[in-house]
Amino acid sequence: MMRLPPFTYRPARTLDDAVKSMGDAGPDAMLVAGGTDLYPNMKRRQFEPKVLVGLTAIRELREVRGHARDGITLGAGMTLAAVARQPEVRASFPGLATAAGLVSSPQLRNTGTIGGNVCVDTRCNYYNQSYHWRKAIGFCMKKDGDVCLVAPGSPRCWAVSSSDTAPVLWSLGARARLVGPGGERTLPVEALFQDDGIEYLSKRRDEVLTEFMLPPADGWRSAYLKLRRRGSFDFPVLGVAVALRLDDEDSRGAVREARIVLGAVASQPRPAPEAAAVLIGERLTPASIERAADLAARPSKPLDNTDFTHPYRKRMTRVFVRRALRRLAGLDAEGRFDEEVA
Ligand SMILES: Cc1cc2nc3c(=O)[nH]c(=O)nc-3n(C[C@H](O)[C@H](O)[C@H](O)COP(=O)(O)OP(=O)(O)OC[C@H]3O[C@@H](n4cnc5c(N)ncnc54)[C@H](O)[C@@H]3O)c2cc1C
Ligand code: SF4
Repeated sequence: MMRLPPFTYRPARTLDDAVKSMGDAGPDAMLVAGGTDLYPNMKRRQFEPKVLVGLTAIRELREVRGHARDGITLGAGMTLAAVARQPEVRASFPGLATAAGLVSSPQLRNTGTIGGNVCVDTRCNYYNQSYHWRKAIGFCMKKDGDVCLVAPGSPRCWAVSSSDTAPVLWSLGARARLVGPGGERTLPVEALFQDDGIEYLSKRRDEVLTEFMLPPADGWRSAYLKLRRRGSFDFPVLGVAVALRLDDEDSRGAVREARIVLGAVASQPRPAPEAAAVLIGERLTPASIERAADLAARPSKPLDNTDFTHPYRKRMTRVFVRRALRRLAGLDAEGRFDEEVA
């Protein structure tokens, strides 16, 4: 059995408390919310913090403010289960409710938070292993070693961004609020990420992610599709988030705005702007969807360091983007509109 290393747990009651505790404890401290990612990682000695500052008792991190029509704010400490069942999220941002509801298993969704999900560690077959397994192969640069075992000779780590909700929040144009010793700042969710398997977040170690602000729902449709081997609890090895707005209320109008963001194909969520651009001004037809799906596969560059082969994951990008767009268009598998089938 793998055991946690010794550490001091400091539960914070307020945001100020949390920021102060992080400052007092110095570089050996980490924040913990549900602990569903961090504790297993600590057992494998991927992280060895001396102090953990707990966020679960901070009430304001669990609050929902506003309404979907004007923009809703979700506390970063909301559990994934709470996000998945939040009525306005389900009705107006179904892609987000779907992604939150597909993370791991029910037990972990009742504990894991959306903030922890966005900050979830990047993953790699050579890294998500016990200490002794990693030691036997000589470690790698993400922890304890100095080479990349996936791409020897590479100066960087290619571990994979594995959050389900991050690509969806990005596709929805959400903003994130951070509070740290230097005050607070808000930034677009995409600015939280960096394309590096080790330094995959731009936020400072002592900054607390407090909330996500979703823009007015205003006719946006969204969908999220996830590829994984075991549907009951695996991490994504491909995630496809699509958000778009049409000219008309029904599915026949031309696309006015579109965003397509891929998860688990790089060290950060990866947008597919050319695929989204080719849809603008077009109706969602089997032909326009096919063009967008082809273009969306281009920025998908999975490496051979997670489940399934990387050529398969790249091929599935095209398939999943096609499926997501068809779903948003109300098209069935043959390309007909739902009401024509009924
Ligand atoms: C078996 C298993 C299956 C899993 N499957 C999936 C999956 O399918 N998809 C998926 O996305 N994840 C999966 N996970 C990972 C994890 O359960 C989720 O990502 C969860 O949402 C993490 O949230 P948490 O609150 O538990 O984060 P924690 O473990 O508490 O923290 C994770 C990281 O985020 C940081 N952090 C947490 N909250 C904040 C905050 N408010 N501000 C700043 N930093 C913060 C922590 O310091 C830590 O670095 C799985 C985990 C396990 C063990
Ligand atoms: S991509 Fe390379 S450096 Fe990064 S975790 Fe995997 S083997 Fe280690």
